[in-house]
Amino acid sequence: MPNKHFCQGPHCHTRPTQDRFLKSKGIIRGRYAYAKIDDNRYYHESDKYFCSQSCKFGWLSENMENIERGIPIPFIRERRITEGYQKATEESYGRKYHSIQKIGIDNNTEQ
Ligand SMILES: [Zn+2]
Repeated sequence: MPNKHFCQGPHCHTRPTQDRFLKSKGIIRGRYAYAKIDDNRYYHESDKYFCSQSCKFGWLSENMENIERGIPIPFIRERRITEGYQKATEESYGRKYHSIQKIGIDNNTEQ
């Protein structure tokens, strides 16, 4: 296990990207943070807690009200997952496109 925190982004484990997707289990996994815990080359201490800027901003949006009220915010210590995804292949104009789709959601707009 890398010497890293899990990304604290509240929605990190719900974003269907290739690197988060584990095909064998059909799950989306939250990422590790960008920087190692003991690495001091990084200017931003927050890089040890988040994988990306969008996760940082997501955390701020989600938690600022709790901070204002003095409500503790749980620290994510285990990898979070979202279940129920599969790899899908679509064909459009003779080209194949791969995507990660939620199982059970029909993206076909034709009735
Ligand atoms: Zn993240």
